[in-house]
Amino acid sequence: MPRHIRIVLVETSHPGNIGAAARAMKTMCLDDLVLVNPTGFPHTEASARASAAGDVLEKARVVQTLDAALAGCVLVAGTSARPRALGPTPLTPRECVQKLLALSPHQDVAVLFGRERTGLTNEELDRCHYLINIPANREYGSLNLAAAVQVIAYEIMLAAGMSGAAMGSRPPHATVEEMESFYTHLESAALESGFLDPANPKHLMRRLRHLFNRAQPDPSEVNILRGLLSALQDARMHARKRGPQMN
Ligand code: SAH
Repeated sequence: MPRHIRIVLVETSHPGNIGAAARAMKTMCLDDLVLVNPTGFPHTEASARASAAGDVLEKARVVQTLDAALAGCVLVAGTSARPRALGPTPLTPRECVQKLLALSPHQDVAVLFGRERTGLTNEELDRCHYLINIPANREYGSLNLAAAVQVIAYEIMLAAGMSGAAMGSRPPHATVEEMESFYTHLESAALESGFLDPANPKHLMRRLRHLFNRAQPDPSEVNILRGLLSALQDARMHARKRGPQMN
């Protein structure tokens, strides 16, 4: 069982969809379900639709924020029925699952699913290394939430069965928390330096996020980047202190 793959449902409004998603997961040997601010959970309809996957529902963790849902993960894939203007190039489920399973089974990865009405927000997708689009009817390509979970879970099952030997061949990635601390550091350095204008930030931080999400640095690479930022910040501070003497 690919235990390190977490399914995250964001603000699901129909309890039946949560149950059906749990069932979709269990049929494909997945059991790590995280619910961000669900409406009505636990709920009899969720249990009814889960059928014999009640154990997956019972184990499901309910959290209030996406940060909490992604804690400990090193890769995040978001699913969307719609293309987005800014962000990773959409992958098919098969392409994306290959990338997720290339990691060591000890590294957690998450697949995010959005709200029934509005999907995932741009800010939520900005947290993702990959964007998955399930190819579907161009005129009506929005699957039911649990049906989308089923498609992805099936691809995970298929790929995990076939690529057992290849799994775990990649070096460890930095966790989501390590990357968030890095982005906070990067933003403060960009502000201090004047490179980032708070009055006119444009999409600078979003674009930098996508750049580093593509790079998928390991923890020691993140340390190098943070060390470099700190050194540049220190150098700037010293130059400022020295400034008046030199004039
Ligand atoms: N109207 C919403 C659709 C939400 S469907 C929108 O435009 O985004 C609920 C969720 O199911 C989506 O957020 C996504 O996680 C998943 N989903 C539905 N259809 C999908 C598709 N074709 N590809 C990838 N994910 C899909």
